[in-house]
Amino acid sequence: MSYYSPSIEKLIEAFEKLPSIGNKTAARLAFYMLDQSEEEIKEFVSAIQDAKHNLKYCSKCYNISDTDPCNICANPARDNKVICVVEDVKDVIAMERTHEFKGLYHVLHGSISPMNGIGPDEIRIKELLARLMEGEVKEIILATNPKVEGEATAMYISKLVKPLGVKATRIAHGIPVGGDLEYTDEVTLSKALEGRREL
Ligand SMILES: [Zn+2]
Repeated sequence: MSYYSPSIEKLIEAFEKLPSIGNKTAARLAFYMLDQSEEEIKEFVSAIQDAKHNLKYCSKCYNISDTDPCNICANPARDNKVICVVEDVKDVIAMERTHEFKGLYHVLHGSISPMNGIGPDEIRIKELLARLMEGEVKEIILATNPKVEGEATAMYISKLVKPLGVKATRIAHGIPVGGDLEYTDEVTLSKALEGRREL
């Protein structure tokens, strides 16, 4: 039985759906929101709605962006001969925070995971190959997460690109196996980038 009124219960449930939010935190957030003025709540809601409405995927790298192409792809100072391949939009942010990488990105939006029914066609590998076919790119850095799925994805892609004459390297050192790029600190990630090896 719930001690809360149905509308509060519903709000708590909504917060509970957010990643890494447990029941206690959800309740705290719900009551925090209820303490806010109508105006503050309106601003909060429209920040979410505007972000959702304005953001789109860059048609080159599939990073999330306000513009297409995104500001990384559109920046002439970036090296278009190197592409860093990541699983997730959040990994682009992680790489950018290192200030080490000056090339372009390709966001796969996932990793190959037969266990979860995700094959190569479910993530943006075709789109990556199409970019490589243009002939500009000399190296791809496979910065998928050092988990089983990330490793499998890196291996799969490295085999596909070899016939295209594109060098495939893999970041390796420093990132714990089973770890997440997103939660890796800048120094470790910079070292991992520096110590990449050819696949
Ligand atoms: Zn882009």
